[in-house]
Amino acid sequence: MKNTTGTDRSVTRNWRPATKAVRAGTWRSEHGETSEALFLTSGYSYDDAATVAARFAGEAEGMTYSRLQNPTVAMAEERIAMLEGADGCRMQASGMAAMTTALLCQLEAGDHVVAARAAFGSCRWLVDNLLPKFGIATTVIDARDNDAWERAIRPETRVFFFETPANPTMDVADLTHICALAKAHGITTVVDNAFATSALQRPMEFGADVVAYSATKLMDGQGRVLAGAVCGSEEWIAETLLPFQRNTGPNCSPFNAWLVLKGLETLELRAHRQSANSLRVAAAIEGRVDRMLHPGLPSHPQHDLAARQMGAFGPIFSFVVDGRERAHAILDALQLVDISNNIGDSKSLMCHPASTTHAGLSDEARAEMGVAEGMLRINIGLEDPEDVIEDLDRALAAAGL
Ligand SMILES: *Cc1c(COP(=O)(O)O)cnc(C)c1O
Repeated sequence: MKNTTGTDRSVTRNWRPATKAVRAGTWRSEHGETSEALFLTSGYSYDDAATVAARFAGEAEGMTYSRLQNPTVAMAEERIAMLEGADGCRMQASGMAAMTTALLCQLEAGDHVVAARAAFGSCRWLVDNLLPKFGIATTVIDARDNDAWERAIRPETRVFFFETPANPTMDVADLTHICALAKAHGITTVVDNAFATSALQRPMEFGADVVAYSATKLMDGQGRVLAGAVCGSEEWIAETLLPFQRNTGPNCSPFNAWLVLKGLETLELRAHRQSANSLRVAAAIEGRVDRMLHPGLPSHPQHDLAARQMGAFGPIFSFVVDGRERAHAILDALQLVDISNNIGDSKSLMCHPASTTHAGLSDEARAEMGVAEGMLRINIGLEDPEDVIEDLDRALAAAGL
């Protein structure tokens, strides 16, 4: 396998994002295939015993077992790292495998984590239920409040964990402030960047240490696979992430990694087109709903901050109507937009977080996070936005709005 981009990445690193998206991390076999090859193999064979011994001793490069390395997965990891501007990346089986790995690989009993209270439901579950079970204390705060981060720090605080924009409230966290504060206290920042992806926001440019992904969302972008990824420095990957990942096995299958790898080729295009479509749709219905939560609209309280740290505002927004009944009535009247709790897809999808993605949380946690009973979250796809606007127009009218 030849890495056509130069093994030291000196060539790849200087490419602009659109070029990296289609070419970074392309390794070619002796056949010279143009599209990256799919290596569905669990193991590898060796010419002689000394070769495999050297690989296991870490003295020679080469694959030994697909829980440790796989060529297709490695290509996708290199492409994600290059797009992120990270030293390295390792892929996992899902976004939640990525989040769990990113946290557990560096934490131990007695440590403390500060996390944003507005988060993807399962991310909150990790913070509220899993970490405390292993003796790791957690504090959840309003991520929009810069001072709240500082107030929550304890001598044993090891990690800040948050997403921005957050699911589904669209809270925006100040990356520059939070990452600088973490650095000053020797705390590692773990940023869940699923809503934006590297096409729209690169947290490491603002000082983030670790960027974690659900690649299921915009990265695949076509609703085909579950996958996750964690990006970090070379040292952190080698010394902190890999010992955990290699021995616990949250790995991404080569097939799923291959689909994400090919999805990345159109990530820039999709992320920007879907962002533009999303803004148009949100602006068109803003006057019809009680509250519109779109970081790209001037009505969003943190619009200026979002504009400073994002290249575009992403495909997702939320809005609030007066209660669950009205929200469900809107969903039931949709003809084009699907009722679905996925996001990042090229198809427009809408869901009611309080009865789906965030149903597992307590009423108090939902209220504290701002997940209202009348909140709907929508992912705007690649359809003609006028068709989506017409569908929403009809659905809102059918629900009496
Ligand atoms: C979907 C999502 C996850 C979980 O990813 P899966 O691939 O579904 O496991 C984590 N964080 C955010 C922000 C998400 O949107």
